[in-house]
Amino acid sequence: MEAKEVISELEWLKKMPASTIKIWSPVTIRSFDISIEALKKRIPMKPKDVSSQKRCPVCGRRLPIKENSNSMAWFCGRCGQAIDWSDQDEDV
Ligand SMILES: [Zn+2]
Repeated sequence: MEAKEVISELEWLKKMPASTIKIWSPVTIRSFDISIEALKKRIPMKPKDVSSQKRCPVCGRRLPIKENSNSMAWFCGRCGQAIDWSDQDEDV
């Protein structure tokens, strides 16, 4: 099961009718939110271009880029967001 599928399942559960939700504690509902937030970080997002720097699309931290694409950050070092570098290295 992919992160996207789990997120939509949890989002769907959160939209259950109030009569069902009453049996869930606020902690249960908060745990859905925390899980959704954590799972969203596993879905790679394109880095943001800010004045010729590559930055995390979530928290804005500058992402290290070196000439060798193997040294690119695949996850943000601050918030853990997965980074999608596809079509970034085609600089021509
Ligand atoms: Zn970040």
